[in-house]
Amino acid sequence: MPYEPPMDGDAFRRAGHELVDWIADYWDRVEELPVLAQVGPGDIAEVIPATAPKTGEPWETIVADVDRVIVPGLTHWQSPNFFAYFPANASPESVLGELLAAGLGVQGMLWATSPACTELETRMCDWMLDLLGLPDRFRSTGPGGGVILDSASSGALIALLAARERVAGQWRMGELVAYASEHAHSSALKAVKIAGLQPDQLRLIPGDGEHAMDPVALRDAMIDDIVEDRRPFFVQATTGTTSSTALDPVPAIAAVCKDHGAWLHVDGAFAGVAAVAHEFRFVNEGLARADSYSVNPHKWLLTNFDCSLFWIADRQPLNAALSVTPEYLRNAASDAGGVIDYRDWQVPLGRRFRALKLWFVIRSHGADGLRSFIRNHVALACDLDARLASHPAFEIVAPTRFSLVTFRHVGGDAENERIRDAINASGRAYVTHTVLDGRIVLRAAIGAVRTEARHVNALAELLESLA
Ligand code: PLP
Repeated sequence: MPYEPPMDGDAFRRAGHELVDWIADYWDRVEELPVLAQVGPGDIAEVIPATAPKTGEPWETIVADVDRVIVPGLTHWQSPNFFAYFPANASPESVLGELLAAGLGVQGMLWATSPACTELETRMCDWMLDLLGLPDRFRSTGPGGGVILDSASSGALIALLAARERVAGQWRMGELVAYASEHAHSSALKAVKIAGLQPDQLRLIPGDGEHAMDPVALRDAMIDDIVEDRRPFFVQATTGTTSSTALDPVPAIAAVCKDHGAWLHVDGAFAGVAAVAHEFRFVNEGLARADSYSVNPHKWLLTNFDCSLFWIADRQPLNAALSVTPEYLRNAASDAGGVIDYRDWQVPLGRRFRALKLWFVIRSHGADGLRSFIRNHVALACDLDARLASHPAFEIVAPTRFSLVTFRHVGGDAENERIRDAINASGRAYVTHTVLDGRIVLRAAIGAVRTEARHVNALAELLESLA
């Protein structure tokens, strides 16, 4: 039977307008919905047929099922009452950029497969470098440059692969050792495992009283390894840890890396974007001596998932590690060497046109708009911090440097779990926990696009009522 597309151009136009309306209505009402999905395992699967339809269904029926089937099973990350994990911003501008990228359907593996995809991406990395006040060594006009990846986890992996490439031929895989703080994100260990190293080839360096990596312990661990004929080759420092936004002392860590020839990757996934506002540029300290750096606009800079920026000071070892050129990918521009082929900066071959949404976000906000977005959340976090600090039942656990407030009820772990569960079951807000110094700690990460003072006040009132 000949193929007949279910949607022609006019039908797409109609359905598209309706879907954009649906999204705008969703954003208007999301505040009223229970933030954490109130369903159990299998509840949603039960209302989805076990097999695909034999014949096509009307578009209206499909779209109606978004409300019936999907919405009840959503945790509403775009709710202004979402304070869990870290935020995953989806601003209107970025969603339109995402839609346009899908409509263009460009696959930007090579410069030649869509020059605009590559060249806009390069420009956006340089724009962001300036907006964040990052060192010039990461600029695309030099030996290094930036790329937009799917995640900071991918950034950690490709940094590790580039570091491994740099020592390849001199050391065997089994002799290599990587280091990160005990508070580093789990993606550090995942990168080590994917790269084919054993988990015990990653040393977790103890944190100090503020949960930042102790550079003396790092140096000691490296010396112990060198004495045992192992090769320290990679260190991942974190600026803004997941549990408490602790800042590893990058300048001191960079000095240790330099002494022992180790690659320094800095993970600024969440907090790095705060540097758009000059008063938070302390987050960049030491980056001029880092080999690579990651930040995620898809967390706290208005750009919907996925959009993770990765910069490298020297792209040669990265490209050497990741470049494989079969005949069918060869083309005149790549052969001439004057263009960037971003396929050589990532694990997959294919790549999405992620730069469009960042371009839309940056241009519609301007540097001033981005700054006030960040400043607003940090001010709200400081208010919550002050309010909880002055309450006899709560204590602040780690300094509120950005927009994450870490706190606990003085009554112990069971009390904190009770409060967390009561908040999340109420549907009025969503918070998650971590463990610091062996104790349960609650986290309120302020940073959703639509969060205002009244939402943070409501969270504070909820906490006080449960104390
Ligand atoms: N690094 C830090 C400090 C994080 O907090 C997170 C996620 O929360 C990640 C890395 C992983 O980010 P992604 O999901 O982009 O891999």
